[in-house]
Amino acid sequence: MTNRVVNFNAGPAALPLPALERAQKEFLDFQGTGMSIMEHSHRGKDYEKVHGEAISLLTEILGVPDTHQVLFLQGGASQMFATIPMNLRTDEHGGDYVITGAWSQKALEEAKIVGKPHVAADTSVEGKFTRIPKQSELKLSANAPYVHITSNNTIFGTQFMEFPNTGSVPLIADMSSDILWRPTDVSKFGMIYAGAQKNIGPSGVVVVIMRKDLIEKGRKDIPKIFRYSTHAKENSLYNTIPTFSVYMVRNVLAWLKETGGLPAMEKQNRKKGEVIYGAIDGSGGYYTCPVEKDSRSVMNVVFRLPSEELEEKFVNEAKKAGMVGLKGHRSVGGIRASIYNAVGVDGVQKLADFMGTFKKSNG
Ligand SMILES: *Cc1c(COP(=O)(O)O)cnc(C)c1O
Repeated sequence: MTNRVVNFNAGPAALPLPALERAQKEFLDFQGTGMSIMEHSHRGKDYEKVHGEAISLLTEILGVPDTHQVLFLQGGASQMFATIPMNLRTDEHGGDYVITGAWSQKALEEAKIVGKPHVAADTSVEGKFTRIPKQSELKLSANAPYVHITSNNTIFGTQFMEFPNTGSVPLIADMSSDILWRPTDVSKFGMIYAGAQKNIGPSGVVVVIMRKDLIEKGRKDIPKIFRYSTHAKENSLYNTIPTFSVYMVRNVLAWLKETGGLPAMEKQNRKKGEVIYGAIDGSGGYYTCPVEKDSRSVMNVVFRLPSEELEEKFVNEAKKAGMVGLKGHRSVGGIRASIYNAVGVDGVQKLADFMGTFKKSNG
């Protein structure tokens, strides 16, 4: 496997090699059944075993308590932006939203279509986001059905290192780009959701971990297919699930468990953060990170070079050196290195070394 690149794509993103190799090995003949897992019925015992294993691995790795249920849904995190307010809004209140980036804004827009959400905080300055708000800045409503945050801002490179205290109001987090980056106390959340394609698998499935009482509380004046209760009742097999995506999630979770689970993953992720932010901060101002230090994300690292021309050159030369996906999001420009769980310390070190060499010859 000499031709695999270091993949810094934001999503779909790098997958752990052992998870891919396992899929390759099982691809044509899944566990002696004479067909691939994709060709099995989603109601047959072979797929059901994979489905159950994915749920139990996630439950074990993350310590999901009995009060919560794991769901596998479709439509991406974007569909959750719509179905969360559809299910949980009250006639008076459409949820408190903490706006820390483009994805929170999109979630808020959907909430406005079906109800009356409230903006609890908005850290944008002239359309840019460079920080996470402090607890004291949050204007929370006492009667909100939930508080919605984006735990990691994939585009702007900021991340909640501590979660807000929302009292008795359920906290909902879009963890699409940082679920499983470290141990997390699930009991503190009403709901956690994540499009799988960043940190937990391929595209096609959304992982949801939701408090059972909130599932039950969901409104009944919406189509059945959009009710969390419909999918919860059928263990996420109400309709045909993206079986191959769930299978790959299973492979990623098995790899995560084998490599030491979340404590080991957190250690590795923090190390990666130190390496790359060290390269930025130690560059004497050649590389600059627009994000405030205590809001810096260890999943998506954004930085700038002295000019756009140099940024373009940086991306092109990095690609020649076997590192792809470094171009920043089109709305913000610059460089973005997405260093999810599947990107190892060695890959990040390779980038840091490249940054040093590039600065020397272009400084
Ligand atoms: C990528 C992303 C989304 C959108 O996910 P889809 O699955 O494409 O709908 C939402 N929120 C965050 C934080 C993301 O990073």
